[in-house]
Parts: sequence; C-alpha cells; structure tokens
Amino acid sequence: MAKDMRTFIDQVVRDRPGEILVVDEEVDPKFGITGIASKLASQNRFPAVLCRKVRGSRLPVIINLTASYERLALALGTTMASMVPDYANRPSAKIPPKIVERSKAAVKEIILKGNEARMSVLPVPTHNEFDAGPYITGDTLICKDPDSGALNVGMYRIQVQKEQQLGVWMWDTHHGAHIRRKYEELGREMEVAIAIGHHPAYVMAAVSTLPGIGGELEEAGALLGEPLEVVPAETVDLPVPARAEIVIEGKIPPGERAFEGPFAEWPGTYVAEGDKPFINVTAITMRRDAIYYDVFSSNREHTVLGSLPRMGVIYRTIKQYVPGVKNVNIPSHGRMYCYISIKKETEMDVKRAAMAALNVEPFNLKTVVVVDDDIDVFNDAEVLWAIGTRCYMERDLTLLPRLAGPGGLNPVGYEFHPDGTKTPVMISALIVDATKPAPPIPYPPRARVPQEVLDRIDLDKMLKEFKGFER
Ligand code: MN
Repeated sequence: MAKDMRTFIDQVVRDRPGEILVVDEEVDPKFGITGIASKLASQNRFPAVLCRKVRGSRLPVIINLTASYERLALALGTTMASMVPDYANRPSAKIPPKIVERSKAAVKEIILKGNEARMSVLPVPTHNEFDAGPYITGDTLICKDPDSGALNVGMYRIQVQKEQQLGVWMWDTHHGAHIRRKYEELGREMEVAIAIGHHPAYVMAAVSTLPGIGGELEEAGALLGEPLEVVPAETVDLPVPARAEIVIEGKIPPGERAFEGPFAEWPGTYVAEGDKPFINVTAITMRRDAIYYDVFSSNREHTVLGSLPRMGVIYRTIKQYVPGVKNVNIPSHGRMYCYISIKKETEMDVKRAAMAALNVEPFNLKTVVVVDDDIDVFNDAEVLWAIGTRCYMERDLTLLPRLAGPGGLNPVGYEFHPDGTKTPVMISALIVDATKPAPPIPYPPRARVPQEVLDRIDLDKMLKEFKGFER
C-alpha cells in the first residue's frame, strides 16, 4: 500500500508503542487541543494526541504527530543519529509523482463545492492566547509558476477569516510569494490547493529549501521512496495528493488584502500581523473518515517539523565546502540554534561550515556552534561542554551584525519591513568555534574509560536491582 498519514500512524503504533495517546471526551478546538499538548510539554512529553470528539465538527484532530525527531527519523526509515546525512543524500534521486484514477483517490470520497465548501466543516484549532482565530498549520500549499508551469509546494500559516476566506502569509523569499507576485503583476487570480494530513516525508518535502522553483513533489517521492500519488483538483488546474486526508481548493484574487494575524510563530512570540493576500475557497474534498492533522504552532512540533528539512539542506550545502562535515542539529528547543560537527582539516573549515549554514537559513539561525566530530550534536550537554573546554572566548566568537537577508520572525530582529507589517528584516548572528585547536597546538585527550573495557560490559547481564541487606 502507498504511504500516507495512516500508514505512518500504524508504523508509530507498531514501532514506537505508547507514542500516540487518545482523548475520548469532547474537546474545544479553541485552546482545548493545544491545551492538552501544552500540559504534556510542560512535563517534557511530546506524544501524538488524537482527539476523537472535537466540538463543532465530526472530524477528529491529531496534534503532535510530527513533534519528535525520533518519529521523523522513523518516517524516513532511519535513526536520529543518521537522519540528517540520510535526508541530505536521498533527494539526489528524485522520483516524479504518479497520477492515479479519481475513483481510487481517497481524498475524493467527499466533494464539497460552491456554497457547501465552508470552513466550519473542519475542526481548525485556535492555538495560542492572542492568535487572531483558528489557523491551519499542517498544510502544504500547491501552486503553479505562471512562466515555467513548475509546481511549487510550501507550508504557510493560513488563517480562517470567514467561512470561505483564508488569510495566507508567505514570507518574501519563499517561492510561493515569488509566484504570487507574478500573478499579481499579470492581474490574474492565483490558483492554490492546500493538502492537510499526509505522510511526514511528504510534509517535510514541502518544507525543504530546494534550488529553483518547484521540485517538492519529486523530493517527496525521493523521501517516501516511492512516487507520490496525485489526482487532479476539482475547481483549480492543479494536481493534489490522492491520499491526503483533506484538500482545500481556492483562488487568491490579485491586488486584494485582508488583515491577517496576530499569530504565534516558531520563536514562541506573535509576529507579522498586517494586511496580507487571501484565498477564496472554491472546494473542499476529503476522505469519508478524514482525520484533521494539526501542527502545534510556536511549540516543539513547529520547530522540529520545520527543522529536519533545513538540517538536511544545511548538511548538503556544508558538504560542498567542508567535506569533513559529520552531522548537523537544530536542537528541538529552538530553530535559532545550529550545532555542526566536523572533522576539522584546516582552521578555515569552521567558518566555512558556519557561513554555509547561515547562508541557507539567514532568518532562522542566530547562534551557530561548530564542534569536533567526537561531540554528539544531539546532546546539548556535550555541546555545552565543548564550548566550555575548547573555545577561546576572546578569539573564537564571531559576531555578524546586520546579517544580510530578512530577520523574519525573531522578536529581536530589527528594522521593519516597508510593507507596513510588523516584520523585522535584519538580525545579528554569532558563530561559536568550539573545536579543539589544530595540531601542533597541544590539546589534552578527553577523559574516558578505555573503549575495550566498555565493549566487554553487558549492563543487562551484570546489573540487578538491590533489594536491601539480608539480615
Ligand atoms: Mn520551492
């Protein structure tokens, strides 16, 4: 069977038992669903939560399905330690999508058009206290470049403004915004299709920063390891994923704006409210028993899901300049940090690796830490230890003020966007060189028990619980 959100849920149940929890009592889509996930987060727990009964809709909601790197690694058929190099290497083999018959497309089981295509059918959650209202956060928006015909897919924040109107914010440098500006110049409506609920590999492909416009559907195939099944939309000239849970179709009128926001973004703060383009909804199609997929915006799920594709692209880019790159982590507590481990061959490697990362993600990363290849970048304590023991603070910190490129969403970004939205466009960044000095400068070996002794110890065999002294 082709992969989709349901096959992934089955896989999590099988391979990571206990990581999907169910709520049977009715919950309010306004803060109720995120409230549960938020309380779990305060206990440092990030299981997926399936809310079976959501007030006002007959559809269940799943939140946090993609809130852990362990589950994203599982979705790619790999482990956390090797998911980044795996991600970086796999999409070199692009796999184009496959068109399937309409009668075989699960997403066409229910088709609502015209006046029937109303947003109140869907249980769209309101996530945080000062959000302007319900936001679709687990979406992938498909559109077509009017010049090349290339299909582009991206994930954007989408506000439910009216029964048939959705506010959409695409940041200036995103391909979706580039395409939208072209339609606006042509004075033409821009057709869009928004898919909600699919295999995480497809969702991550939509987030990937790819060279040029389009290619996400092919990257999805590469990450899935099989072609993505697509089917034509009902009211717009676009293909949509046949195995999605829900698809919303619509058109963005040129030159028109509606007030969008505020909305809590991944740094954990509200940002960028203002006049934005909007979508007029023309159709909603879905599975008969559709599950609404929600990403907990501004919380760990937002950071984690948004970060693995970025880590993969950063790794791929660093590799061009520093062949000794070993691993990259954007730690789950914030997309503004990046840890890079390298086998340092020359002193230049450190800055070249850090600059490559900042070039990929100038508006997300603020602190880039480069460590040696004996440091586990997925262990914060090891990275902090490296900063503490391998960094000459007076010469190994490099501050980059007024970093070229947009400041984006960070609350300490500065200089606001000329479009009048409260969006900072500048940011400053820090490179921390926490690598050992290169030989011949001496550096003591790291303290550890000899490896051959560790290899001989089988903890499960040797250790038993102490039951107290026998008297
Ligand atoms: Mn793109």
